[in-house]
Amino acid sequence: MPIVLSASIDAPSPRSVRACCMAATLAALCFMPSAAQAEETRITIGTASSAGVYHLAGRTLCRMLTTPCTAQTSDGSAENLANVREGAVSVALAQSDLQHYAVYGEEGFNEVGPDENLRSLFSLHGEPFTLVVRRDSGIRQFDDLHQRAVNVGNPGSGQRGTLMTLLDAKQWTLDDFSLANDLPADQQSLELCHGNVDAMVYTVGHPNDSVAQAIRLCDAMLVDVEGEEIERLVDELPYFTPATIPAGIYADDQPAVKTFGVRATLVASAQTDDELIYRLVSAVFDDLETLKAYHPAFDELTPELMISEGLSAPLHDGALRYYREQGWISDDEAIEEEVAEEAVEDSSEDNE
Ligand code: GLU
Repeated sequence: MPIVLSASIDAPSPRSVRACCMAATLAALCFMPSAAQAEETRITIGTASSAGVYHLAGRTLCRMLTTPCTAQTSDGSAENLANVREGAVSVALAQSDLQHYAVYGEEGFNEVGPDENLRSLFSLHGEPFTLVVRRDSGIRQFDDLHQRAVNVGNPGSGQRGTLMTLLDAKQWTLDDFSLANDLPADQQSLELCHGNVDAMVYTVGHPNDSVAQAIRLCDAMLVDVEGEEIERLVDELPYFTPATIPAGIYADDQPAVKTFGVRATLVASAQTDDELIYRLVSAVFDDLETLKAYHPAFDELTPELMISEGLSAPLHDGALRYYREQGWISDDEAIEEEVAEEAVEDSSEDNE
């Protein structure tokens, strides 16, 4: 005999609907995280233009996490550091030179002053300061840029910050160019191809789309950035190092290029939840080979390098916990970190 399942649905009384709704609302309220908790369970990573390596790095970090995570494009390092300061993103990528300026309130961060809450997590790939010129421009060294049309990078970008330091060292200003264009990285190559600028600069890991586009789509080439001012910058400033863009990565006949560079770093505010940072740092170091497989610029990464190079801001407590557990940082070094934290706080008091 077939079993007949019948369900009689009685229309609920308005009172029972109200009671039911109230119970459901209460239950939802009880289990709904508060705004502060909601922030702590989602990571937002500030990256840069989609034409660079930062955005790929941010998306890769998100993929490696089980925590909900968004990689957000931005104007670049300077904007990211401002966003971290304002709590608009949980973590962000930033060049080591700009990280240093943000910690100590120097250069572009002079007006806002030192960010005593800025913390570093680890560093990533090297970013050579890259000068790309149209071959027919005749520009073969940095000094040839005098009175030429140059894309100097959009405000908020790291390349603009590095260029400004270099210009200062040479006692140049933007007026030493006939035109200082400020297009972002994803638009500058076409500007070069169209002949509207003679050169563009980009502080970025290699290979990257923006440089590849310029070299492949129009007749552009990479130029060495050398000279006594560069040597002085590298000698005097801990966040600058000599850098080489390897031969043949954009074209078979592309020679190795000598320049100077910085390191991409990951930063957060001291206020970003320790547990969230601990989870992010663990996900990266527990599976570093996966991260390295995502981009050739990550090939050289080792834990030793990542927790020592380019980090001017004290380590974030969540990161420090993981590094101590791994035995990568001894208790003595952890105390030094605390002293570094106090030094940053003191230097910001000196500036008040
Ligand atoms: N270094 C650049 C900046 O800070 C971004 C490079 C990239 O997107 O990979 O703005």
